[in-house]
Amino acid sequence: MAGSEFDLISQYFSRLGGSRDDVLLGVGDDCALLQVPEGMQLAVSIDTLNEGVHFFPGSDPESLGHKVLAVNLSDLAAIGAEPAWATLALTLPAIDDDWLRAFSKGFGRLAEIHKVRLVGGDTTRGKLAATVQVHGFVTPGQALRRDGAEAGQLIGITGSLGDAGLALRLLQRGEETDSAGMRELRLRLDRPTPQLAVGRALSGIAGAAIDISDGLLADLGHICARSGVGADIKLDLLPLSPQVADFVRSTGDWRLPVAAGDDYVLCVTVAPDRQGLAESRARQAGSPISWIGEIKAQPGVHCWLPDGSRLTQACVGYDHFG
Ligand code: ADP
Ligand code: MG
Repeated sequence: MAGSEFDLISQYFSRLGGSRDDVLLGVGDDCALLQVPEGMQLAVSIDTLNEGVHFFPGSDPESLGHKVLAVNLSDLAAIGAEPAWATLALTLPAIDDDWLRAFSKGFGRLAEIHKVRLVGGDTTRGKLAATVQVHGFVTPGQALRRDGAEAGQLIGITGSLGDAGLALRLLQRGEETDSAGMRELRLRLDRPTPQLAVGRALSGIAGAAIDISDGLLADLGHICARSGVGADIKLDLLPLSPQVADFVRSTGDWRLPVAAGDDYVLCVTVAPDRQGLAESRARQAGSPISWIGEIKAQPGVHCWLPDGSRLTQACVGYDHFG
């Protein structure tokens, strides 16, 4: 994309997000030059959204700009980091000013909320895809890693599960999504909220954490695999929106809340003697914790139905190569 590639970058991407003193050189040079605060560690994560895989062709560009940054910030939230910088690699089929204006608006608004500065990127021609890398800071020893779960710790989640999955299901079936209830579900799918405040509030307190992008069972499974433990989940303790609760009641199908992705709430494990502290910190951060189960020494993640029997529905999370 020679020629107007540079106009495009300067028009839409040279001033996105909050301005920061630690950006010594931002968009426009061969590299960005960034100052990590004295004594802090750098947390780095990258995620891609591909057309036809992560979003439908023709999706609203403003939502896409929001979501590609949000899913990355969710990873910083899950490790308890304070976000600082982002880079953006964008592949576009053509230059479409309306699309670029909307995309950069969605990206920029979320970046400003979290004082994140876009400091560089790459722009190429091809099938629509957006990759964002985010950078944040953690205090040494305070990061919320996946490998810190231990038997006896309580499992908590910081928001309702299955809303994005239900929205996707309704969209795929071409069902009506105009009611107020459905609009809420669509927001969970299209404009996820990265739970940065609660991630930071629990850093140094929780044993382990992960953000739920691929479904509770898959992501809690990652904590268990990295920590060499298992987990028991009590399904009647899962926080569900009225819409998802209705769906489960009427179909008997638990796969939405336990296996659908794109929720971006945090799943944390907390030692029982820190339960009260974790609860009050999370509440102060605006994302109350629901306690849904317990870490076990025996490997395997099991879900228990309200009647005391074990859930046997095939529940696997999303796997791109599965
Ligand atoms: P180079 O050829 O040296 O890699 P580019 O032409 O790719 O440089 O980019 C020029 C400048 O614009 C660089 O500072 C780069 O980081 C920035 N940039 C390119 N694309 C984007 C984008 N989509 N968002 C933000 N910055 C971008
Ligand atoms: Mg480049």
